[in-house]
Amino acid sequence: MSDLKRAQVLVLGGGIAGLVAARELASDFDSIIVLEKSDQLGGSIGSSVIAGHRVDSGAEAFAVNRNDALALIDSLGLTDQLVSPARADARIRSGRDTYLIPHGILGIPSDLSDPSVLAAVGADALAEAIEFDARPWDLVGSISIGNLVRTRLGNAFVERLLSPVVGGVHAANPDLLDSDAIVPGLASAAANAGSLTAAVSKMRASASAARPGGAIMSLRGGMHTLVDALALELTGHGVSIRLSAGAATASYVQDLWHVTTTAGEEFTSGVLVVALPSEAAAQLFATDHSLTEPLAKIQTTDVAIVLLALRAPELAFAPLGSGVLITSDSEGVEAKASTHASAKWAWVGETFGETHLLRFSYGRDGRLPDDLLKLHELAVSDAKVLYGLQAPEVIEAQTILWPGALVQPGTGHLAVAKTLSEEVAGRKNLAIIGSGLGGNGITGTIRQAQEAVSELRVRYFERE
Ligand SMILES: Cc1cc2nc3c(=O)[nH]c(=O)nc-3n(C[C@H](O)[C@H](O)[C@H](O)COP(=O)(O)OP(=O)(O)OC[C@H]3O[C@@H](n4cnc5c(N)ncnc54)[C@H](O)[C@@H]3O)c2cc1C
Repeated sequence: MSDLKRAQVLVLGGGIAGLVAARELASDFDSIIVLEKSDQLGGSIGSSVIAGHRVDSGAEAFAVNRNDALALIDSLGLTDQLVSPARADARIRSGRDTYLIPHGILGIPSDLSDPSVLAAVGADALAEAIEFDARPWDLVGSISIGNLVRTRLGNAFVERLLSPVVGGVHAANPDLLDSDAIVPGLASAAANAGSLTAAVSKMRASASAARPGGAIMSLRGGMHTLVDALALELTGHGVSIRLSAGAATASYVQDLWHVTTTAGEEFTSGVLVVALPSEAAAQLFATDHSLTEPLAKIQTTDVAIVLLALRAPELAFAPLGSGVLITSDSEGVEAKASTHASAKWAWVGETFGETHLLRFSYGRDGRLPDDLLKLHELAVSDAKVLYGLQAPEVIEAQTILWPGALVQPGTGHLAVAKTLSEEVAGRKNLAIIGSGLGGNGITGTIRQAQEAVSELRVRYFERE
């Protein structure tokens, strides 16, 4: 076949996982091709130009509880671009109440004597939580994060704190999400400490010791600048990046992988790294059931982001601090979360000047509003209610749809991920990476990609 393109390594998917994998492998292999379906690299770390400025349209920050993203940023020479939020005083809106999110993890407080806990749940629920969290630990096995918090702190902590935060971050009901997949190590740390809040406090303290400050950081210019830096380095090392090249099939014949694209191009390689959303990965392997079956079991959900550049005098004082997470019973509001981006990030505030940038996310419990074409109108209406705006002047609005972009790690998720990892471990020259296995979040995805690629390297060179 004359137009068959050959490479030592094919990486499918140009999100953060695929780019990190290509970078890790570039020291061992001379010819690497990355195939990306869309016309832009970065996947969920996307960008859009609004009111003349390029900003993040998907992920906007990364967790610093582990060092993986920070180390990558450092190795790309971007440390001087690191930024912390200018303010970390996000609120929750429930019904008609608005209250601060206490210090902790996903709304789970690190200290029940923090006055914001009392303000959030009330005196009765607080007294109950103090009693519950002092009881002997009796939880065993896999447990949802909702159940963990309900059992140790009571239902008010689930309804008023955990649910809105988990809804904002994972677009899901906390009763359906495996605690170990959402906050790895929390349940076992709580079992050891005999208290959930003590475990949260310990985990937050060790994250702050690693990096003083808040739980998240970003880059001046936006998280998408990380993608630009990776792409620049990869091309400098001779890695070929092909945009608008969606992989359609992958088959394994005589020790080689064969990949076809939707445009009918054909590629062959000695090593295959699949860094796709799990649904796309499942379709790729068609008849290879030991891969397609676990991949098809990984659940995902849709999210939509609306960016609004607007002017309104009420925003000058950041009425909701850095932003707000919204419960489903909030009257007159459809969004599940909103960020006052120009208040949260100093560089955004400086870039937009008199104009404010607000971000709204939609897709509560996996359901997007019916009329997606009118989403920006909904965002303007939500902006008025949430931020108390009388007559905002909308400079520009943009809607970005993220179908299937957030993983929903339900209580069987870790078992599925284990089955898939064991299957891949039996193959000499295949890695499957990305948030389907690493979980939602840039830091975890980078870590999973790096670990999977180093295991692949061992398997490949051992058997060569
Ligand atoms: C709206 C939103 C906001 C988020 N906010 C944050 C945040 O603030 N902080 C945080 O840490 N995390 C956040 N996340 C999660 C985080 O962005 C993701 O977990 C992470 O970026 C996933 O990276 P990935 O490489 O695994 O997958 P993706 O980013 O999904 O990349 C997969 C790539 O594969 C490509 N592709 C798909 N099909 C094919 C095919 N057939 N052939 C070739 N290529 C294909 C896609 O176009 C995409 O570029 C957010 C996610 C979303 C959607």
